[in-house]
Amino acid sequence: MVNTFVADEQFARSRDENDPLRAFRERFHIPLGSDSTPVVYFAGNSLGLMPKATRAVVQQELEDWGNLGVEGHLEGTTPWYSYHETVREPAARLAGALPHEVVCMNSLTVNLHLMMTTFYRPTSARFSILMEEPAFPSDTYAVKSQIAHHGFDPEEALVLARPREGEFTLRLSDIQELIEKEGKQIALVLFAGVNFFTGQLFDIEKITATAKACGCTVGIDLAHAIGNVPLSLHDWGVDFAVWCSYKYLNSGPGAVGGAFVHARHTSNRSLKRFAGWWGNDPATRFRMQLEPEFVPVSSADAWAVSNPPILSLAPLRASFKIFDDAGGMDALRTKSMELTGYLQTLLDRAQSKSFSVITPREPMNRGAQLSILVHEHPKELFAKVEAAGVKCDFREPNVIRAAPTPLYNTYHEVWRFAKLLAEH
Ligand SMILES: *Cc1c(COP(=O)(O)O)cnc(C)c1O
Repeated sequence: MVNTFVADEQFARSRDENDPLRAFRERFHIPLGSDSTPVVYFAGNSLGLMPKATRAVVQQELEDWGNLGVEGHLEGTTPWYSYHETVREPAARLAGALPHEVVCMNSLTVNLHLMMTTFYRPTSARFSILMEEPAFPSDTYAVKSQIAHHGFDPEEALVLARPREGEFTLRLSDIQELIEKEGKQIALVLFAGVNFFTGQLFDIEKITATAKACGCTVGIDLAHAIGNVPLSLHDWGVDFAVWCSYKYLNSGPGAVGGAFVHARHTSNRSLKRFAGWWGNDPATRFRMQLEPEFVPVSSADAWAVSNPPILSLAPLRASFKIFDDAGGMDALRTKSMELTGYLQTLLDRAQSKSFSVITPREPMNRGAQLSILVHEHPKELFAKVEAAGVKCDFREPNVIRAAPTPLYNTYHEVWRFAKLLAEH
């Protein structure tokens, strides 16, 4: 074992030297550990690292506010009035959407509520929502409260797609069968792109096709998918999607999230929605008291309620530039599959009985993250990993989630982490 790991260290070093994306690590601030060396940061699935360029982008808006006051709306370096326009196209590239299908606004759960207000309109015949288990608590709370809000019983109306007994991830055929079986009653299929807990990447295209064939609306939560895996929301025919920007999108704590609304809905003015002035046609938005009727703009912006918080929208500009400079999601995904695949290979080679990986083995069925189920002394192992300068996270009762990300992690870091686990 020790010898293989020596050989592997050289291999990891040479992979890093030949990595076409290696320069991108320099564009991020990497926190230092207790020994003043950079930590191995595998927590980008919780909070992505800060791009060095972010400070200046935010500083600029503070300067403009200080120097221009209200004039910054139209006269700022990047006028605030149309600031959100500058992030539309890069966000659309990551979502696989047309620009007018995308809007950067609010945070994820708020966007989920706004989308459900339009796209979850239960009737006595079709009232349930299908989700995967385990779903992120915030999504479950949002869904149950929407169901109750419409006067239905969450116990009855929430349908869960569960892994089979003894399995941790879902089989596509099981999901499809469940949709077909319950389809007549399902109003909304709300699935994650990538499951937060297991790291499983779902086949959104096939799930959407099955759900649409049964007459269901389809919404996708991209919290762990955007900036992690390539997406083609428009071509897949998804009705709506929502995301946050502080995980793989590296835009900072509580950064402005996003939403996608398929083009087949964007110009439908009769859709029910919660309206606000930022969703109104910009041509009449500032006529204020002269225009009491809401006229939704023919884009995803129609769901924007308020003017955006410029200081937490600004970091998206610095982040999206990095994604574009790196060659977009396809280039990043190539490295990501190799990096995470390398971690899997090293963990396999350790042949440890004390842990097992519950994330799907096939690279096509996962993103960057591996979820490691620790059978013996999970907390001790996690403490050991932390003490050795690796930042990953722990999900009760016994899962360590580690997400090597292609923008700033290295093969050598993967090697260091795997060696720690192998020695447990
Ligand atoms: C991270 C995450 C959230 C967070 O929601 P916020 O509204 O941004 O606080 C919600 N759902 C999922 C699936 C997540 O992974």
